[in-house]
Amino acid sequence: MTELLYQTDSYLQEFDANITSVLLAERAIVLDRTAFYPGGGGQPWDFGTLTVADGAYPVNKVKKQGEDVLHFLGGAMPLPAVGSTAHGILDWARRYALMRTHSALHVLCGTVFRDYGALVTGGDMDPLKGRMDFEFETMRGELVREIEAAVNKEVAQSREIRVRILPRDEAFQIPDLIRTKINLLPEGIAQVRTVEIVGLDLQADGGTHVHNTNEVGTIRVVNYKSKGAINKRLYIEIE
Ligand SMILES: [Zn+2]
Repeated sequence: MTELLYQTDSYLQEFDANITSVLLAERAIVLDRTAFYPGGGGQPWDFGTLTVADGAYPVNKVKKQGEDVLHFLGGAMPLPAVGSTAHGILDWARRYALMRTHSALHVLCGTVFRDYGALVTGGDMDPLKGRMDFEFETMRGELVREIEAAVNKEVAQSREIRVRILPRDEAFQIPDLIRTKINLLPEGIAQVRTVEIVGLDLQADGGTHVHNTNEVGTIRVVNYKSKGAINKRLYIEIE
């Protein structure tokens, strides 16, 4: 089982850990704790470096498998042994860009729901750009500019972004969480992690976020596309 350090400290850039298992065929290792985000909720996995006594490996891919986080190592060096200690360093420029992007998408979805009552049906992101699908019947340039102005106004409010890990029963009593389909979470989950943009948005979410909307930057809605009768896609970029 891997302790997920990024869930409680998204600003952790380096960490020490022990190697608890080695998968030779996949060239992957499991750590007892990690700051590497394994991907999920539209946020891609982190890149970085893992240093052991004999040298350093590039971390090319990270993936959650049950309770474990697999770190896929590049290079040609033989894999380290189980029980070795390792030091992980994230590609921080990329990760921080993804944190700003992920938080920007939550600002967008909170603002669109508040102003138009439109729910999100999907989303995806890369560093400093993303897309989100909403239940809109029509979308036009004028509306896009209105949304863009509203999201940047929210960013400028310097709203705090709070992460909490709650017992399942407590989380299910928060009415705001229902619209983000908390009821679709698997039965077995004992705790729910919530991300709240104070005064704007509250979601069940596993991703890494900035502490305050003032870190996001300027959001541009650069394009929009119809993806069906009641589905419209907005494309954003962060400056
Ligand atoms: Zn999210």
